[in-house]
Amino acid sequence: MPQVAKRIASVPPYLFARMDKVRKDLVARGVDVISLAIGDPDVPTPDYVVDALYQAAQDPATHRYPPYEGTAEFRRAMARRYRERFGVEVDPDREVMTLIGSKEGIAHLFWAFVDPGDVVILPDPAYPVYRTHAALCGARIHAMPLLPESGFLPDLEAIPEEVARAAKLMFINYPNNPTAGVADLEFMRRAVDFARRYDVLLCHDAAYIENTYDGFVAPSVLQVEGAKDVALEFYSLSKPFNMTGWRLAAAVGNAAAVAGLGVIKTNTDSGQFAAVQRAGVKALEDNPDRFIASMNEVYRQRRDLVVSTLRDIGFDVTPPRGSFYIWLRVPPGYTDEEFSTNLLEKAGVMVTPGSAYGETGRSFVRISLTVPTSRLEEAMRRLRDSL
Ligand SMILES: *Cc1c(COP(=O)(O)O)cnc(C)c1O
Repeated sequence: MPQVAKRIASVPPYLFARMDKVRKDLVARGVDVISLAIGDPDVPTPDYVVDALYQAAQDPATHRYPPYEGTAEFRRAMARRYRERFGVEVDPDREVMTLIGSKEGIAHLFWAFVDPGDVVILPDPAYPVYRTHAALCGARIHAMPLLPESGFLPDLEAIPEEVARAAKLMFINYPNNPTAGVADLEFMRRAVDFARRYDVLLCHDAAYIENTYDGFVAPSVLQVEGAKDVALEFYSLSKPFNMTGWRLAAAVGNAAAVAGLGVIKTNTDSGQFAAVQRAGVKALEDNPDRFIASMNEVYRQRRDLVVSTLRDIGFDVTPPRGSFYIWLRVPPGYTDEEFSTNLLEKAGVMVTPGSAYGETGRSFVRISLTVPTSRLEEAMRRLRDSL
């Protein structure tokens, strides 16, 4: 076998071999490990969406290659969602593209815009796909730390002038994974101003835009006037509609960015199954806000359970207003990995060490709320007993 490409060496190695070994040993000994380490909704996709897929799959018109930019009906449904939810007008033909999940679109966006040596500005901690694909493309990465004292918003003023001038693109993600920080429209305005001033493509990963609590409603970056000149947003059906396995999302915004992404995509994949896109139309159009509100109520209750348990044990936590994670600072004297491994060994509860998302995450762990409430209750009992 020849060696794999050199660019593979630029992908950060899997960091948690030790934790994985502990988990495997525990499972082999019959321990019932509860994983709060993965952000993947546990509640099934709504029945009416599944039914729409059954029906669509029976129509031979869905059996052939779909249009590469996505079906017209799905792109129109996305445009309608943007109008009704955000008050934003987008042209479904030029400003919307169907994605095979937003992970696919995010990854390919780097290939569409980044040459070796180009500068990209990424949050730290962050969803690892940004960093991985930036590295695969040979980008120079400037990290913006997301810290609790700034509400997990990056300090755009702190970006050195020469970095800003050289930068090709910037990623932001609110509500944020993993920190659960949220951004208001004022922050989006500042990000758009920055992108305009320095001629940067502003990419907003909006995976959790529908998952908010306590009356907070997350804005789209496209709500900022003129944002379409500089911004592209990734809207995913995965998290709001419990559809992670379906692989359906859209890139929405700047037409040139959509077109650039389209060149990579047409030459790589041939689009998402049209029947899945029809089911997606159903999710987006059949009273989406009612389903979203019912799920957010489930996550809010779980959030409150975890926050009150952590507070009882002595942690200082603020209930997050978005995403379905709790970003917890580990006690002094522990690294994120030591704390997670300890929790796994003593309580059989698995959380994600924060450094999985970047250096700034090293003193944090991420707890996910996407397990059945009864399992979460059991995990919290164990936490109380072990700490
Ligand atoms: C889950 C997640 C995604 C991926 O969503 P898909 O549409 O399922 O690919 C993207 N970004 C963030 C921050 C996520 O947490």
